[in-house]
This record gives sequence, C-alpha cells and structure tokens, in this order.
Amino acid sequence: MKKVLIVGSGLGGLTTALRLHRRGYKVEMLEKFHQPGGRLNQLKKDGFTWDMGPTFFSMTYEFKEFFEDAQLKEMPFEFRELDRLYSVNFRGSDKRYVIYKDLDRLAKEFEEVEPNFREKMNRFLDSAARFFHDVEFVVLKRNYDSIWQYLLTLTRVPVKYSPRMIRTVWQEMERHFESREVKEIFSLVAFFLGATPFDTPAIYTILSYTELVHDGYHNVHGGMYKIVEGLTKEMDKAGIPIHYNTEIVDYKNTDSGKLNTLVDQHGKEWNADLFVVNADAALFRHKIFKRKKFNQEKMDKLQWTMAPFTMYIGLDTKLDDVPLHNYFLGTNFKEYSGNVFKNSVKLDQPYYYVNVVSKSDPEAAPEGCESLFILCPVPDLRFKPDWSDRDEVANNILTDLGQRIGIDVEKHIVSKTVLTPVDWEKAFNLYRGSGLGLGHNLSQIGGFRPKNFDEEFGNVFYVGASTVPGTGLPMAVISSKLVVERIDKKYGSLHK
Ligand SMILES: Cc1cc2nc3c(=O)[nH]c(=O)nc-3n(C[C@H](O)[C@H](O)[C@H](O)COP(=O)(O)OP(=O)(O)OC[C@H]3O[C@@H](n4cnc5c(N)ncnc54)[C@H](O)[C@@H]3O)c2cc1C
Repeated sequence: MKKVLIVGSGLGGLTTALRLHRRGYKVEMLEKFHQPGGRLNQLKKDGFTWDMGPTFFSMTYEFKEFFEDAQLKEMPFEFRELDRLYSVNFRGSDKRYVIYKDLDRLAKEFEEVEPNFREKMNRFLDSAARFFHDVEFVVLKRNYDSIWQYLLTLTRVPVKYSPRMIRTVWQEMERHFESREVKEIFSLVAFFLGATPFDTPAIYTILSYTELVHDGYHNVHGGMYKIVEGLTKEMDKAGIPIHYNTEIVDYKNTDSGKLNTLVDQHGKEWNADLFVVNADAALFRHKIFKRKKFNQEKMDKLQWTMAPFTMYIGLDTKLDDVPLHNYFLGTNFKEYSGNVFKNSVKLDQPYYYVNVVSKSDPEAAPEGCESLFILCPVPDLRFKPDWSDRDEVANNILTDLGQRIGIDVEKHIVSKTVLTPVDWEKAFNLYRGSGLGLGHNLSQIGGFRPKNFDEEFGNVFYVGASTVPGTGLPMAVISSKLVVERIDKKYGSLHK
C-alpha cells in the first residue's frame, strides 16, 4: 500500500486525504497549528464561539462532487442558503442597501439611485453567466502541464471574451451601471478575492453571477467549522491520523528526482511514497525547497492578496437591528481601495466587514449576548510590517461601528481578541500575512499559477489556495479534485 503524507490540514488537505483514502492510499497528515482547518478555523473563548475566517461561500455543488468522489454516505454538515446575502452602509448615510438574491427585491433597493436597475443588472448577469459557463470546464477546472498547454486552452475561449481579460472589474462596472453606489457595491467581489476592483481582471465578475443567480451564498448550520468537524470525523472513521503542532521545516533524502523524507521542527523525520503539500504552494517552494524561482526577491514581487486584521468580539447585549453579514464602506472608495493595500491611506476611517455570528447560530453566544466577527482588509507585512498600532486600529473600527449602528459597542464588550497580519502569518504560515494567498492577476492564474506538481520531485504535489485554481472554499475543494486527478494519472487508483 502506498503511503501519502499530507502537509497541512486546511480544506484542501482534508478533502485530498479523504479522496486518496478511498483510492486505497494509506494517508497521514501533519499540521503546524493545534487544531485542523487552516484558515477555516474556530476560536472559542469566554463562552463565545467564532469562525476565524470564512463566513459564507458559493458553488456548494463542489462539496457534493467531493462527497461522491470520496464515497462518503452523507454530508456531515448542512448548508443554508442565504436570501439576504449581505448589507452595505456608506459612512455618513443611514441607508442600508440589502443585497437580496431575489432580483425583484434587489431592484427595489436601488430604484432611487440607478434608473432601470433591473434591466441593467439582467444584462450584466447574463453576460457574466455566458462567460462562466463557457469557461467553467474548459479553463477553470483543469490541470495544466505547462504554460503552453494553458495558452492553447485559452484559444478555445470565444474571442468575444478577450476584452474581459484586459478590462478591470471596475471598468466592467462602469460599462453597465451609472451610480456610485451600485458600482462600488457590486465590485466588492474583487475584495472577496483579496484584491481591489481596480487591479482585478473583469473575468471575475462571474462571482456576481455565482452569488446572485447560479448557486447563491451559503453558510453552515452551527457555524462554518462544522465542515472541518464533519471531515475530521470521516477521517477518524477512515483511520487517517493528523499530527498537530508539527511543522515541516526541512527535507532530506532525495534520489532520482524523488523525495523520501520531510523533517519537522523537532528534527523528526517523516517518510512516505508520495507527498501532498497543503501549505502555501509558493512559500513551501521558497522556504522548504529553497527554489531559485521562488527566492525572496521573487516572492516579494508576486501579487499577494490583502492581509486580514480580524476581531472576535463578545457583547453582553443583542444587536437587533444589525443583519448577519454587513459591509461598512466610506465615501472615498477609489482613493481608499486604490491605496489601502500599499499602506498609503491611514486606517483611521477603515472599510470593514461585520458578521454577527450569533444571528445565524444562537449557540455561538450566551443568552442575551452577541458574537461579532470583524474583518478589515489591510496591507500585508511587505507594506506594513509594524502592527504596534493594533489597539488604535481596533478602536477606530469599534468606535466607527458604534456610531453607525447607534450602540456604544465598546461599553458592551465582554470578550475581545484581535489578530493582525503578524498573527495570521504565524498561525498558518501565510506569506507576509496575506490572507487569501497569491493574487489572481492574469500572470498568476491558470498555467501561470504555481503548479500542483513539483518541478523537481516527481512524487510531490500541491493543493490549496496558492496553486490551481485559486482561493476560496469551493476552489480549495476543486484544487483537491485536480491534484487527485494528477495522482490518479500518474499512479492510478490503487483499488483497481
Ligand atoms: C479572514 C479570512 C476570511 C475568509 N473568508 C472567506 C469566505 O468568506 N469565503 C471563502 O470561500 N473563503 C474565505 N477565505 C479564504 C479561505 O479561507 C481559503 O481560501 C481556504 O480556507 C484555503 O484553504 P487551503 O486548503 O488552501 O489551506 P489553508 O487553510 O491555508 O491550510 C493550510 C494548512 O497548512 C498548515 N501549514 C502551513 N505550513 C505548514 C508546515 N510547514 N508544516 C505543517 N503544516 C503547515 C497551516 O497551518 C494550515 O492549517 C477567507 C480567508 C481569510 C484569512
């Protein structure tokens, strides 16, 4: 029986483990953190519970595909589709725009600022839908052996879509809508990719189609961490061990283009026939394999996604008037989003996202209390290495939030945990604290993204956000499908 060692227990690692187990591999996992899930993690403190990172996602059918492929009887967690996707408030205004999946209700929200919203939105979504369905299987869910193979594949995409490669998300918005509010709100999808609408290619407006029409947005009954709990339960049943607090720091014993051994921080050696790396695909090549193509200078020149500044707040009161998912934006969208990631704007009037966790899962907070998760996208550690102003930034956000929801939030805080990009980097080995891994500009996607197979060791593979196809929960699941396809192709299913 061939043994596979998986480094990292993020969603990509966990789903790969179960897919390979059902193919007859003996699987073992290593994880540097003290519990599984990677960025899809959980924090419990003072009687409150928070999901540490992801709060909602789309393309749930990728999980269903995974369950079928891994031959698991039923999904050990329950998705909940959101009709009210999120709400958006601009600083200085009392108006709260609610983004409904139902287009009639959505049109009502914008009738005052965007004449003929419904027709314009239909046109925008139709064009995004056509593009999505023309590229989903042809380009997105595919392995590439080389850049040439990728470029050849792109020639199969109808030429009419070429301008989307050149335009940005913001330019695509400007072609369809007039009002500032609509353009800013529907270009937030670029932030979901950890970038801004001004540097994200217009191809990613497909995310508006997936959120508003195709599969919508979902969360998980009982919290997002139920996904990890469900998967690890399946791993227990399958006898797949995970060794926590175990970080790979080196390698040794290679022969004829094969890796035999990885070494952890205590010097312990881990041998296997195959290795799947769920740690960041670029960083592992840089830090562990010390590859020239991923040297320090080149790593810093890559486009990395925003770094997270996150807060996990417990309040001793209810926020009856605040919905589940909320974006709080300012009035200088272009200036702010164009500069924030380069640390060229101050964080005294930040843009941020608030998830009132306990609205959707009451057990996340004690009776009469509320759990809040706050995410503020900030510069990564290349641009802002010093976070000694952490408390100041946190207070700016909390004061601003209090003013906008009409409650003195700070007075009601009974639990508070703040994580800066330094903490995120340390917890999960995220390069320079970048929250979503490598960015998605044209030179970092498809055949240009770090490959899911190693350049030197024929028995080393990669899965997760910084390899193909990209970041986000459904992409991590697709990534596991793609890497297992590669392993299948090379070694075959051992059950056959
Ligand atoms: C704040 C935040 C909010 C987000 N919100 C959303 C959202 O709402 N919706 C969505 O779809 N996505 C969201 N994402 C993105 C999503 O979390 C990620 O794309 C996805 O979880 C990445 O999974 P992964 O498999 O690449 O691995 P990761 O989650 O990165 O897991 C990799 C694992 O490898 C471990 N590791 C690293 N190096 C080593 C080593 N040397 N030795 C041993 N172990 C190692 C790490 O500790 C980690 O556990 C968010 C991310 C963040 C940070």
